[in-house]
Amino acid sequence: MLKIGILGGGQLGRMLLQAAANYPVRTYVLENDPECPAAHLCHAFTQGDIRNFDDVYQFGRQLDGMTIEIESVNVEALEKLENEGVKIFPKPAALRIIRDKILQKQFYKQNEIPTSAFRITENRADLKNFSDFLPAVHKLAAGGYDGRGVQVLGGEKDLHLGFDQPSVLEKKVDIHKEISQIVAMNGDGQTALYPPVEMIFNQVLNQLDYQLSPAEIPQQTTWRIEAIALKVVKDLKTPGIFAVELFIDRNGDVLVNETAPRVHNSGHHTIEGNFCSQFDMLWRIMLGYPLGNPKHIVPAAMVNLVGSEGHSGEAVYEGMDEILKMENVFLHLYGKKETRPGRKMGHVTILSTDKSDRVYKAKAIKQKMRIISRQPQITV
Ligand code: ADP
Repeated sequence: MLKIGILGGGQLGRMLLQAAANYPVRTYVLENDPECPAAHLCHAFTQGDIRNFDDVYQFGRQLDGMTIEIESVNVEALEKLENEGVKIFPKPAALRIIRDKILQKQFYKQNEIPTSAFRITENRADLKNFSDFLPAVHKLAAGGYDGRGVQVLGGEKDLHLGFDQPSVLEKKVDIHKEISQIVAMNGDGQTALYPPVEMIFNQVLNQLDYQLSPAEIPQQTTWRIEAIALKVVKDLKTPGIFAVELFIDRNGDVLVNETAPRVHNSGHHTIEGNFCSQFDMLWRIMLGYPLGNPKHIVPAAMVNLVGSEGHSGEAVYEGMDEILKMENVFLHLYGKKETRPGRKMGHVTILSTDKSDRVYKAKAIKQKMRIISRQPQITV
């Protein structure tokens, strides 16, 4: 039986393992926290740091293949393991490009993949040279995630907000819609494209409100998105699963924002909504089976369940019964013991052919379900 390891034991690892149970595979997880969401669903758990060379190398030596659920892993160890015959999804060479936002933007430019214009800054003082480039978005080259490490610079008055480490300064896009295109590619270069997903943001909280799949966009735009995302994955030259995040601007032009070379939050709905989920698809790729069908069974919406503001500590789930009573609604809790404000604790997928039904339920779920701690903190 093939032995496959996952670097990181969060919810993405957990859902990968749920799908692995259907295949002849022995699963391994490396993660610091032995109580993490994926720890109890794998065959063998190893406690260790995914950013540490020795931890990753020792973990990987026993395996036939490996994948990641987060980009911040030790790439040097993965390169050594690859040279020794371990198959890595995605290949470390692609991971090197993607995990550094400067290299990632340069990769798009070199390969003529449409993306917003950009400049590179080494420190905050550099920003002074680019005041005619504003409004722009400053992004840390390394270490940012979920919007942390991203700062909008509207004008010269904002320059002090910029980062003092190597970063990219991107022209601010006048965004009409934010889209995620999930692409799968196997070892033979065959590909499968999921329907594009539309991410709807809460402008006030500046976080994802809900997702709709398929996105409501003109057919021409879908073709454009598919062509661009396919080119990104082909040019990265690695098998695996990828979420290519794109903007449609107010002129209808499509620009790549960034790419995740792994299973992704924007593909959660594929578990119930599509014939072959993103998690199932990655196992097919890693184990050398035929690709599955990425198409929808029924259109979907998805909401993340995040920890309520002002609550830290052992999680209590309020409103679960009301959600479980709703028709064609699927609850996933990640088994995280502790909640924190904004922490991803679970998600809910809603299936319906009627878009208004999906949106109505998504909004209702966000109101009805609260993840709190038994003893709320007093915030001042
Ligand atoms: P992260 O990887 O931390 O999620 P992103 O690069 O996706 O960071 O940026 C987070 C959000 O910031 C995006 O979802 C988008 O709303 C906004 N954003 C990012 N880049 C730009 C840009 N060039 N123009 C306008 N808005 C942007």
